[in-house]
Amino acid sequence: MTLPPDTRPDRLRLLMLTPEYADFLWLCALLDDDPEISSDAIWCPDLVDCDDLIRNASFDVIVWDCIFHGGDESAFLQYLAVASEDKPVLALSAEPCGERSTVLSRNGAADYLCRQNLDRWSFCRAVKYLWYREQLSESAHGQLGREVATGFINRDLFFDRLQQALLRAERAGHRLALLHLNVDDFRNINESFGYQRSDQLMFRLAERLRQKLRRVDSLMRIGGDELAVIVEKVEDSLDITQIIRKVVLALDEPLTLDGKSVVISASLGVATYPEAGDSPEELLRRANRAMFEAKRDAGTSYRFYDRQLHISAGYQLRLEADLRNALRGKELELYYQPRIDLATEEVRGVECLLRWHHPERGLVGPDEFIPVAERSGLIVPIGYWVIEQACKRLQESAEMGFAGLVFAVNLSFRQFHDRKMTETIFRIIFNANVDTSLLELELTESAMMHDPEYAQRCLRELSQLGISFALDDFGTGFSSLSNLQHLPISLVKIDKSFVQDLGKSADAEHIIRAIISLAHSLQISVVAEGVETESQLEFLRQQHCDEIQGYYFARPMPWDDLVKFMNRRNQSACLQQ
Ligand code: C2E
Ligand code: CA
Ligand code: CA
Repeated sequence: MTLPPDTRPDRLRLLMLTPEYADFLWLCALLDDDPEISSDAIWCPDLVDCDDLIRNASFDVIVWDCIFHGGDESAFLQYLAVASEDKPVLALSAEPCGERSTVLSRNGAADYLCRQNLDRWSFCRAVKYLWYREQLSESAHGQLGREVATGFINRDLFFDRLQQALLRAERAGHRLALLHLNVDDFRNINESFGYQRSDQLMFRLAERLRQKLRRVDSLMRIGGDELAVIVEKVEDSLDITQIIRKVVLALDEPLTLDGKSVVISASLGVATYPEAGDSPEELLRRANRAMFEAKRDAGTSYRFYDRQLHISAGYQLRLEADLRNALRGKELELYYQPRIDLATEEVRGVECLLRWHHPERGLVGPDEFIPVAERSGLIVPIGYWVIEQACKRLQESAEMGFAGLVFAVNLSFRQFHDRKMTETIFRIIFNANVDTSLLELELTESAMMHDPEYAQRCLRELSQLGISFALDDFGTGFSSLSNLQHLPISLVKIDKSFVQDLGKSADAEHIIRAIISLAHSLQISVVAEGVETESQLEFLRQQHCDEIQGYYFARPMPWDDLVKFMNRRNQSACLQQ
């Protein structure tokens, strides 16, 4: 693989996806003699490199040999569209045009050439056409940015953008949200500050919002006192809730105009694709209607067109506010679930699991509040509290005579976003003065995927302190154990879904067998989670699984109950001797 091309705009940056190096050279040679193009072409022969390249370098045109895909041509084209942010794809195939080209363009290819007729002229023409078209569309977007900056409003461009975003969402199966924001009492603002100054105020507001939004979200001014935000790649309603939260927070801070601070409020209407429609007109009309409903509430307020979403967003935002208090108000508690060594039947360790005593709702489980904590970033302070608490209990357990008991703590992917993570964890364990070899951090593959290099560095630094790592929910992700060989992982936890499928599906047995034998060959221990029955236990014992965790032995329990549980087990062990 060659290095990514430089970013001079006068040079065409081409990505060539073909398994054959000879084809790559041939295509480059076809372009070489064209006086109008100077190009930098990159050869990419396999899928792994392809993903890496697309995400880390930018290209103007992608040339794609149709035999290059991971099994499904149309899915691959969709992937290319999303990953490259809609760069034009020129498809090359051995089959004659006609029907083939219809199918390919329906799936998203920008142009199609049949290999038999491929010559210098047709290839250069197709590549140049796509490149010029790409440059035109980029300059239109650039122009749009300038128009927003100067307060110029262009509804056609806005509709065009929304249309493109909707097509992308449809292709990728994503949701999309359109936020329509209208500043309250803008007429009053106009009267007190004059037209030009009020315009500046809108500009400041747009700038502030832009800073708070993600890079993929586009913000436009669509009226004198109106802004619209297209939120793409929405996974679930939590994503939208977080954006609304940011917008509402941004509106809370006063803006300054002529050295004076001006407090404004706004009403927000939200319409989502597919719930509220699939055309730009429909979405805008419904977001607008929701905005008018929001106007009925005093101050900054929001409304979803979809009632169910409105309820769930309100619920999540309240949950988040309550969670903030929970950490301060000591409403969080750790429960401990023992992990039993199958060979000795001893309790090897405990997994620390969060519980929240909500003042009104009673005990709330982590599956409900951890996602909210992750999206809002609250998981970072909560995560440190969990480690602190676990260290405290670790210290106590040694004093009570349960020496050697391992304490496992869950680490969320979002905690890796905190660039001071290793430093902070180091400080916590240093202050607690605990034996770090008894502290284990559980993480999932997705935590490692987000920024693998940084995550690996964190793991290495922490493992130098003596902390060990377990891979949680194993089998549900994508990576294979051998990919993880270079990571300091000493344990994998087989996801409970496999254990619970034992006896119901032959696949579960095969998967568990394979995980155990592969892990053992890499000197990695295995814990099976979610063991509830004797027969599950027996199967795992036969497969030489090292440890098990599950309701069969014990449910997660408060600290005092754990102490009793441990004492009881110790006593019965003494009696047996
Ligand atoms: P997890 O890490 O996979 O934790 C194991 C979950 O399985 C726990 O659910 C546990 O109560 C449950 N479990 C254990 N044995 C059995 C069994 O035999 N049958 C069944 N059906 N379930 C069993 P819990 O406590 O509700 O926690 C859910 C998830 O919340 C955890 O899944 C973990 O991902 C997350 N979580 C909990 N505490 C923390 C925390 O402190 N930090 C972070 N980041 N995540 C946490
Ligand atoms: Ca876990
Ligand atoms: Ca798990």
